[in-house]
Amino acid sequence: MNSSAVVSIVKCPSYSPDVLEAAFMQVCKSAGFPDVKGKIVLLKPNVLSDSPVSAAITTNPELVRLAIRYCRENRAKEIWVGDSPGMQGQNFKPEKCGILDICNEEGAVWVDFTKDPDQVEISGTGNTLHMANVVAKADVIIGLCKMKTHQLMYVTGSVKNFFGTIPGLHKSQCHMHFPSCDSFAKLLVGIHETVKPDFSIMDGIVSMEGAGPANGTPRNTGLLLGSANDYALDRAQAVIMGYDPALIPVLKEAGNQNLMPSEILYPDLDASNCVIKDYVRIPYRKKTGFIRNLILPVMARTIGGFFKGKDHGPEFMKDRCIHCLKCVKICPAHAIFFSEEEQRIVADYSKCIRCYCCHEMCPADAIKVK
Ligand code: SF4
Ligand code: SF4
Repeated sequence: MNSSAVVSIVKCPSYSPDVLEAAFMQVCKSAGFPDVKGKIVLLKPNVLSDSPVSAAITTNPELVRLAIRYCRENRAKEIWVGDSPGMQGQNFKPEKCGILDICNEEGAVWVDFTKDPDQVEISGTGNTLHMANVVAKADVIIGLCKMKTHQLMYVTGSVKNFFGTIPGLHKSQCHMHFPSCDSFAKLLVGIHETVKPDFSIMDGIVSMEGAGPANGTPRNTGLLLGSANDYALDRAQAVIMGYDPALIPVLKEAGNQNLMPSEILYPDLDASNCVIKDYVRIPYRKKTGFIRNLILPVMARTIGGFFKGKDHGPEFMKDRCIHCLKCVKICPAHAIFFSEEEQRIVADYSKCIRCYCCHEMCPADAIKVK
């Protein structure tokens, strides 16, 4: 890709309606919100879990409200809103995070991503996966993502937001087929190229630093971002968080596939002037993929548990665990179980592929990443 991309970054210190609307309108104008007149629009917020707004895990509902209103005012034919958290099955409704109420109040339809999914060939991977059928039915797809760190991929952001189009537990199986960080980045780029979203707006007003995407700390970062190019948008996010974009797996993969724009234009704030130096980032791992995910587990299996508990991986804290068993259900490698005898979650590290799905799903912050 040789073309340039525009990323709008504007200050937005709060979610109060006037402040948010002014920032939203500026982002849409600067970055070129697509024409939705007469079209079916799918809005895709980040609803990793149905958690309270204050946790900053999900896209703020007031941003979803504004996007619905903007599409309606621009005469969209229908407005759908949807996502599919890893643990929730059919009929999931985002009630606690406030997005369902917003849909009802604003006349948008919450769509179930798990209902009759399509089988779709994922671009560039040779794999066929289940995907929400509304992706193929919508005329315009808009991401409403959240600025967050991510234990495996360093950043969450806009490209990864579309992993949510893979329904429910099908997501955890993806980690088995794409076990390393780099191969998972290839899958995320492949899903993104299959979905082909038209525009994304990133909620960086209250973002998540530290142990994202589910157990980090909310941080007032006061920024709203938007772009028609998610790779450019995620690059801007990485710069703001203080990462070297060249080391972010999704951006590296996008570069390998010639998908990064040759130039990024910032008509409002420049990402390099918004760097938050003390942002709490996920530290870079020295090794990704092959050694961590393939060699060490094989060695551990061979030597019989010598490495058990000593390698990188999730650590389960008995004192915090509420025994919900969400981690056991989500684990694609069947590497963890609840020991009745010990009354705790026990892991077989020789099976663990270090996907951190368990960490993402834990509602009690009872899993540390070593
Ligand atoms: S134990 Fe956690 S990190 Fe390991 S494979 Fe299972 S879900 Fe992934
Ligand atoms: S998800 Fe967290 S709280 Fe639930 S059983 Fe696993 S470790 Fe315990």
